[in-house]
Amino acid sequence: MTELLKKAYDSETFRQQGHELINLLADYLKSVHSEGDKTKVLNWTTPEDLLKKWKEDDAAALEPNPIPFFESILEDTIHMHHPKYVGHQTSNVLPVAALAELLGGFLDPGMGIYEQGTSGVALERLLIKKLAASFGMDPNEADGFFSSGGTLGNLTALLCARQVMIEKDVWEYGLEGKKYAFIASEEAHFSCDRATRVMGLGKDGLIKAPVNEKFQLDISRLEECYQNALEKGIQVIGVIANACSTAVGAQDPIDEIADFCEAKKLWLHVDAAHGGCVVYSEKYKHMLAGIARADSIIMDYHKMLMVPTLVTAVLFKNGDHSYQTFAQKASYLWDNQEGQEWFNLAKRTFELTKTSMSFRIYAILKTYGQQIFDESVTRVYDMAKVFSKMLVSNGNFQLPVAIPDSNIVCFRYFEEELSEEELDSINIAIRQQIKEEGAFYIVQTRIRGKYFLRVTVMNPFTTEKIMEQLIDKIISSKP
Ligand SMILES: *Cc1c(COP(=O)(O)O)cnc(C)c1O
Repeated sequence: MTELLKKAYDSETFRQQGHELINLLADYLKSVHSEGDKTKVLNWTTPEDLLKKWKEDDAAALEPNPIPFFESILEDTIHMHHPKYVGHQTSNVLPVAALAELLGGFLDPGMGIYEQGTSGVALERLLIKKLAASFGMDPNEADGFFSSGGTLGNLTALLCARQVMIEKDVWEYGLEGKKYAFIASEEAHFSCDRATRVMGLGKDGLIKAPVNEKFQLDISRLEECYQNALEKGIQVIGVIANACSTAVGAQDPIDEIADFCEAKKLWLHVDAAHGGCVVYSEKYKHMLAGIARADSIIMDYHKMLMVPTLVTAVLFKNGDHSYQTFAQKASYLWDNQEGQEWFNLAKRTFELTKTSMSFRIYAILKTYGQQIFDESVTRVYDMAKVFSKMLVSNGNFQLPVAIPDSNIVCFRYFEEELSEEELDSINIAIRQQIKEEGAFYIVQTRIRGKYFLRVTVMNPFTTEKIMEQLIDKIISSKP
């Protein structure tokens, strides 16, 4: 054995550096949770400056102690545990879930086949069945797996829908010049459009149905979308419901969409990447009414459920369907080429090797129970409603929807006399100022072409007082 390899695998060094890293992260967590703390959410640096910093670091001598590197990352990363981080829909990672990820990262079981994944595979099965039951599906019938993100989850579910719903075996023979499409609201996540294009359905592969004044799919327009497709010679495979949409956080009426799908014999896919988590909230789970009728659902654990990226559940009401997506043979992985072996996950997932996602979720549930999901999701949904009321009563803001369906709030600084161009440039300047200052982090979106500020409350430690400070900050950042 070489000296270098022996040193790099030294267990005592690992022990000591591991303790130091945990100390570093625990101190960071303590500081962002203490009032009056001066830690910024984001230490804004331009991409060029940061690349230059790392190039210089790379050119310098080797550093046998990794802790200064870890410290440097902590300094130049966005601080998602900070209660003033109210930007994108990213996870406010629970310490126990991060520890489980470290465990998974170190042991690194492959998960594609049972012999590699063992406990990770068994736990994945257990968690998927429990989640299906939470959504109101029959856990004996329903089945699924975890996948690497909502984008891949949507693609996998839609691929399955295509394989199940089309008479021709597209997997074997391709599209053969036929046109197929899914219908989704114009607010659907761009990964749906990307998925249908990847599937070879082209630009007409996702039919964008209009939304109502609350940005929810307008159910009264579905028939017309469907008929238009038929006239163009396009076979509609299914409808995608948003639970909720990404930009505005609007919740589509799943039950009514399910009625339509049932009547037309279409696949119903619910993109519940973000809002599926309310299934755990006693107060808000009614918003998902009808979701048990979906043929497929995806839900991200790495958004509201405090799990490190990426963990997405992909569920199928009829578990048999989950085996039809990919029909590839791989004799080096499994003997039984045709059989439904739940424990050989790669028969059904896009990935072959994937991380042991179930460790992170199980660690949370075993330690705190489902109650922790309920408390966190309910708090952030409540806080978004409180925040939107504060914005409305402030009088300086315009909101596309007065009360948000979810924890996503869009708004813009508004004055009657200003032109659209002026409003855009004022709001762009406000966000730039806030980002560069770094005390808060908010994002933006375009709604019907107009620039809006966007807040997603992801952190249950974000208080009403913090949201008041944010409003003051926005007003004072106005050019
Ligand atoms: C976030 C999101 C996605 C994409 O999920 P990733 O895990 O980021 O790939 C898809 N759909 C909706 C509605 C989302 O909010």
